[in-house]
Amino acid sequence: MTIETPDIDRRVVQDIKTRAFFGLLFYTPLFLVIVGANDFYKRHSSFCVLFGTLIAGICLFRLFYRLVLSERVKRHSQSLDNAIFYISAGATGLIWGSFFAWFMVLPGEYTSKMLMIVCTAGICAGGTVGFAPSFALAVFFELAVLIPAAALMLLYRTHEPLAVLVLIYSVYLVFIAGQGNREYRQALKNELLLVKKTEELGLLARIDSLTGLYNRRYFDENIDRECKKCSRVRTVPVVIIGDIDHFKKINDQYGHLAGDEFLKLTAEVFRSVFRRDTDIVARFGGEEFIALLTDTPAQAAFELAEELRRRMSAMRMSCNGSEISATISIGIACSRPDIDESRDTLISRADNALYQAKKRGRNQTVSASCDEAAGRQYR
Ligand code: GH3
Ligand code: MG
Ligand code: MG
Repeated sequence: MTIETPDIDRRVVQDIKTRAFFGLLFYTPLFLVIVGANDFYKRHSSFCVLFGTLIAGICLFRLFYRLVLSERVKRHSQSLDNAIFYISAGATGLIWGSFFAWFMVLPGEYTSKMLMIVCTAGICAGGTVGFAPSFALAVFFELAVLIPAAALMLLYRTHEPLAVLVLIYSVYLVFIAGQGNREYRQALKNELLLVKKTEELGLLARIDSLTGLYNRRYFDENIDRECKKCSRVRTVPVVIIGDIDHFKKINDQYGHLAGDEFLKLTAEVFRSVFRRDTDIVARFGGEEFIALLTDTPAQAAFELAEELRRRMSAMRMSCNGSEISATISIGIACSRPDIDESRDTLISRADNALYQAKKRGRNQTVSASCDEAAGRQYR
């Protein structure tokens, strides 16, 4: 079983946006703590105002975009929404990276620099893990934060050992991003696979594997609900049971596989006759099929059953040069809107009508009277 790439891509973008959201709340407080310590902001007020505005501005924009605009933009263009997210996330890294770089080449200010280094290391690690679903974004982010500072320190020949450490740390983070990305993708694939398998199992649990019709279990589970719906809207549920006549002979004469093919064709005939969305058609057992009609008056249901019987007797299946055909016997029972009949009684009345059809010589439709509570009558 394969997972479609668009499914994965959609989830990656969705997850990365959620992961990035909480990080946004931390940039501005960290900035304020760093520049507030030792009255740093008083000595470098213009730079602090510039970077403070940029950091707070980009975070506010991203928060506002995510909470207010994103859904609207997505409705027009999913790729525009993604592009805005990726560009703004990358820009946040670049802004913090420039701030870090400027900071590290200032003369003195050792306490503030120490705070800056600790915060930046944390931001990089958080970004690398948070953006791991997209390897490219994770790497771009951490390089944008770290490399300008390392380059400036080497250029100005200041804190060179620290510059080397920053370079080593950035290489380490690239590996972490790669590892995180692989693990994330594997976990996501497993999750999507599980969802697909569960859906498939749900389908298998209600579909008859030979004919593709609903199976008996599905029918049994739904007939109560459908009948209750009928009594609410005061319509009459009709149950139609069809059993192929002398089906055993087909198996005996042409083999079990030919018998299976014949059952598939019979299912097609049922499908072609009971076409309404509200009709439930199921394979009830071996060569027995059942239909529940909840939106069809009893007389019309009888005519449909007759149509089914005619189509069945006209149906031919070629098999090794021979033509296989069979008739069907049908029993119908309908409930009455004024009585609360159990599904078992309804089905058993249809089954008894079917028994009558067989008894009377097969290839016919017998309807159990709707007034059967007063005694079994057939017509
Ligand atoms: P009647 O007219 O009285 O209904 O006779 P019949 O031969 O149709 O009924 P009977 O109950 O004697 O035989 C039903 C046959 O259906 C026997 C069984 O092997 C066959 N059958 C049940 N399920 C399947 C199936 O999935 N595939 C095939 N090929 N045959 C099946
Ligand atoms: Mg049977
Ligand atoms: Mg039969």
